[in-house]
Amino acid sequence: MEFNNLVIVGPPGAGKGTQAKTLAKNRNIPHLSTGDLLREHRRQKTELGKRASSYMDAGDLVPDSLILQMLEERLQRPDCVQGFLLDGFPRTLAQAEELRKMLERQSRSLSRAIILEIAEEILVGRLSRRRVCPTCGSVYHLDTKPPIEAGLCDDDASQLIHRPDDHEEVILNRLKVYRQQTRPVIGYYHRHRLAIAVDASAPIEDVTRLIHEGLEERALVASRV
Ligand code: ADP
Ligand code: AMP
Repeated sequence: MEFNNLVIVGPPGAGKGTQAKTLAKNRNIPHLSTGDLLREHRRQKTELGKRASSYMDAGDLVPDSLILQMLEERLQRPDCVQGFLLDGFPRTLAQAEELRKMLERQSRSLSRAIILEIAEEILVGRLSRRRVCPTCGSVYHLDTKPPIEAGLCDDDASQLIHRPDDHEEVILNRLKVYRQQTRPVIGYYHRHRLAIAVDASAPIEDVTRLIHEGLEERALVASRV
């Protein structure tokens, strides 16, 4: 149970959402994407959604004051008792520290941080050709993971969308924001000895296997000491 408090970290387009969906299903824990939570607030036109909107459109980070309360409330729901998989959070060193404190307040701690490693050149192509299901959040790619029927979600037949922030100029800003603000989080998790680094340029199923092996390996080592 203790091994199921997980985060997945990597640049936009590394495959966090794709892998998180499978991993969360296999481990029977909720997949909590802060991006998805924010988009849901936006759809519902909540005060938070309205305030986050302009940052999201520009590809900038939404201020912590908006994110932290939303996340703490979500982590306290009963479905997180057996663990959780956070995707898109933490995105700054300050958020990583806030998460540590938040979990401490709830008498928990992080088990592992899965780090997706990938060269930046690959990411623009992944993001600009990504399509997502607005209903269930399934992630597709026009070349590497196309839906069975063009434009429609395999699971619920919803019309797939091209996220407004998946256009090139916003993508380039998101990558810059990642380099400046999020990349240091990787060092933070290495220093805390929580990091499991995985080559995210491999095909989707291979990355899934590498993550599984990394988690198993660490669990084995932990059970020996
Ligand atoms: P993130 O959540 O990190 O932004 P996604 O999981 O949404 O990334 O993946 C970005 C895009 O790349 C999607 O279109 C997805 O289908 C595709 N993708 C994800 N992982 C791989 C992979 N290992 N190989 C090729 N394409 C991938
Ligand atoms: P994502 O779906 O993870 O690509 O996130 C989409 C957008 O939501 C980002 O570009 C940010 O504007 C915002 N966002 C998501 N998670 C965070 C976070 N942890 N901190 C700040 N902003 C976030």
